[in-house]
Amino acid sequence: MKTYDVAIVGAGPAGAVAGFLCAESGLKTVIIEKKHLPRYKSCGGGVTARTIELLKRVNCFDPGCFDSFVEQLTVHLPGAGRAYRVRADKPFMGFVRRADFDMALTRMAQDKGARLRTGEAFQGFRAANRGKLEIATHSSVLESRILIGADGYTSRVRKQLERRCRTVSPVPALLGIEGDLKADAVHSLSSGHCHLFFNVSPAASYGWVFPRGDRLNAGLLIHMGALKGRHPNRLLDGFVENAINPTALLERRGGGMLPLFKRVKNPVLQRENVLLTGDAAGFADAWTGEGIYYAVKSAMLAHQSIRRSFGGAKGGLMEYSRLYRREILNELTLSYLFFLFFRRLPRAYHLLAHERIRRLFVPYIRGESGYPKILVKALAYSLGYKFGMLADNRDPMF
Ligand SMILES: Cc1cc2nc3c(=O)[nH]c(=O)nc-3n(C[C@H](O)[C@H](O)[C@H](O)COP(=O)(O)OP(=O)(O)OC[C@H]3O[C@@H](n4cnc5c(N)ncnc54)[C@H](O)[C@@H]3O)c2cc1C
Repeated sequence: MKTYDVAIVGAGPAGAVAGFLCAESGLKTVIIEKKHLPRYKSCGGGVTARTIELLKRVNCFDPGCFDSFVEQLTVHLPGAGRAYRVRADKPFMGFVRRADFDMALTRMAQDKGARLRTGEAFQGFRAANRGKLEIATHSSVLESRILIGADGYTSRVRKQLERRCRTVSPVPALLGIEGDLKADAVHSLSSGHCHLFFNVSPAASYGWVFPRGDRLNAGLLIHMGALKGRHPNRLLDGFVENAINPTALLERRGGGMLPLFKRVKNPVLQRENVLLTGDAAGFADAWTGEGIYYAVKSAMLAHQSIRRSFGGAKGGLMEYSRLYRREILNELTLSYLFFLFFRRLPRAYHLLAHERIRRLFVPYIRGESGYPKILVKALAYSLGYKFGMLADNRDPMF
């Protein structure tokens, strides 16, 4: 039976980056992926500058798999017939096709020495001799000291871990639904911009149009609890027709669930020698749906605690939960509060008419400031406008 130090289930950004870092640290690492690579993954493909910074920091960044980078964001409030622009002095977001992006990250992990087993679906694990885990896929069995669940929203690793801990915490869901439009079919949108549309439907947090080569990717982030019998495809068609262009047709459609992060007292992130990362751990921004950043970040934290554990440090893998509380929990909790706030008070999106408030989001996407700063500044500016201490700098573009 093959024996490894670290076995990782899933070759998305969380699994690939964890594989890269563990192999680079000299650990015998294997990545098990049920599909053959490159595999299709439904996604807007927006990679924020803060994610790029993380990838650069660990030398796991390949600019070759990016279609474009943007410095301009247009915020649309279609109901009010308004659109506003935010211009940054350097790119704050890049766009990828996930098949290429995930493949490039996995190749980098292989270059560091990680073994890749594709077309093998993880089935389960059990404790074996000498503190090891026996891991079964549908076609083979292997042994590993540590198992990382990076197998996305429907994670089998998480389900098994929760069964063992007798604490099943259902992960509430957001639904991302998207499709491609021919770029030349949409003349009304400025090219080279990233476009966000708010207040497009009571079920959707927002809609997006992202530039991806000769195509535009259009999609909606939907709260499953607010669908109320509406068909997601109809919502997407309505969004394209009403907010973008009545004659544009979607050439391809896709969709998938992503976790809606809710603060739970004791999330099952690590038990014994098993750790969960990325979507499998329930990590995605509840308001924006950004998950790639948290996939990469949690892979880095998992690696940090695994290295400590192999180095014989006290606390071993339990360090992972501590790092999560320090580096992820607050940010995701605030993203959930933002999500709730805008669901209850959609009119608050009209604050985006103020240039100062729009500009708050660029440093956030870049990773230069977090939600707490946005919150404090947005409150201060709103009060400033209300009491006439700040000039009302609403600037409708259309
Ligand atoms: C429509 C949509 C649009 C989105 N847009 C964005 C965006 O623009 N920007 C952003 O940051 N985030 C976006 N997200 C969220 C983002 O896609 C996820 O948060 C991110 O992919 C999580 O990465 P991951 O590595 O944890 O999991 P995944 O990328 O889901 O990878 C999990 C991998 O595990 C494999 N796997 C699953 N089960 C098994 C098994 N039993 N055995 C072996 N392998 C298995 C899967 O095949 C997959 O390759 C979007 C999500 C959706 C649905």
